[in-house]
Amino acid sequence: MEGTYWDRVETIQRDGLKKLQLKRLNKTFERAKKSRFYRDRLPETINSLDALKDIPFTTKSDLRSSFPNGMLSVPQEEIIRLHSSSGTTGRATVIYHTRSDIDSWADLVARSMYMTGVRKSDVFQNMMGYGLFTGGLGLHYGSERLGALTIPASSGNSIRQIRLMKEFNSTVIHITPSYALHLYILFQEECIDPVSDLHLRIAFLGAEPYSEETRKRIESLYGLDAFNSYGLSEMNGPGVAFECPVKEGMHVWEDSYILEVVDPETGDLLSDGEEGEIVLTTLKREGMPVIRYRTGDIASVFPGECPCGRTHRRISRIKGRTDDMLIIKGVNLYPMQIEKILMDIPEVGNNYLIEIEKIDYLDSINIKVEVRPEIFHGDIIELENLKKRIVEDLKNEILIHPRITLVEPNSLPRSEGKAVRVVDNRSK
Ligand code: AMP
Ligand code: ZN
Repeated sequence: MEGTYWDRVETIQRDGLKKLQLKRLNKTFERAKKSRFYRDRLPETINSLDALKDIPFTTKSDLRSSFPNGMLSVPQEEIIRLHSSSGTTGRATVIYHTRSDIDSWADLVARSMYMTGVRKSDVFQNMMGYGLFTGGLGLHYGSERLGALTIPASSGNSIRQIRLMKEFNSTVIHITPSYALHLYILFQEECIDPVSDLHLRIAFLGAEPYSEETRKRIESLYGLDAFNSYGLSEMNGPGVAFECPVKEGMHVWEDSYILEVVDPETGDLLSDGEEGEIVLTTLKREGMPVIRYRTGDIASVFPGECPCGRTHRRISRIKGRTDDMLIIKGVNLYPMQIEKILMDIPEVGNNYLIEIEKIDYLDSINIKVEVRPEIFHGDIIELENLKKRIVEDLKNEILIHPRITLVEPNSLPRSEGKAVRVVDNRSK
């Protein structure tokens, strides 16, 4: 298929979109009521989308307590796959898919990839973990649906990743932002310049929060266009929201999900432009519909229409999860605020770690920052000045005085999946 859009529904008028949502929502209720969990929690039908706000939220702990199959809405023989969330913040949860669920998911991912400019002629190296995590298989089936040559590289094994990129002239990659920054160090060690020696033109960055400054850094290190990709296993995985070439927010595919933003404290609905917690409802899921799911992710809806012509609303970059918020000396702080400052300083390397502890009963924050090799081994006064600059810039942003330790490149722990940016030792 050629043209600007993968699917006509991308540009559907808002009125038509709302009608479609209401129809699919009522169908979703009918399906969900077959599960033990939703049987008595949902009305038969609603007459207007406004009535959705009176329906109770579904939380992560609901998913955990209905483990393993309290939310299953079809007989098990109709299920062809399960995925499970990473379980970084507690016991894992499980999501079941029918054949048609897997099909709709692949279509949403293909639509998202096509939107960024990927075509059949591309070579797509998928560097996200294959397995229970949805980042690998989710993009895999989408890319095959689109018709690109798909390399199921999975995560890790950096030297092999570089070799694959060179041998098969990969043009598109899917990678976590933290791993992209790390991998660059290996390129330097191998004396390969990704800009001139490779054919990369597009990257999908997702699975963890990162700043606009990190995107820009990755774009310039690799000489490509990086697009933000948002998803969570409870809503399939990747393909929930994706950036278009305008790169001002991610379009949430509203023909497949209902998007709400609520106040994380009160649960009240917020208006477009106001920052709050993203709440999502599946509209096409058969095996395991999930209604008004509290994602824990903090973002806002971009007001106004997107110049790309798509009518589906856009959400801002995810600032973090409600449970990522740190309270240090009484000040509320998201790790992303720190990353934003660090990645804007060219002398700063590609990794950092935030450590928090109590010293004499007071919170203390120490940030270990990797420095570029030539700076680390260079003039000591320049190094001191860099440290002062980091402290000053951070103090202006986070309003507390951090301790900064400048460390050698490639010396901080790293992960091939989601990065661990904060070590909080206060309760120890
Ligand atoms: P999982 O269900 O284990 O794949 O984890 C999903 C979670 O990863 C989401 O709820 C977000 O907290 C985070 N996440 C995924 N994509 C992004 C993104 N593009 N930006 C920020 N956080 C993300
Ligand atoms: Zn757009």
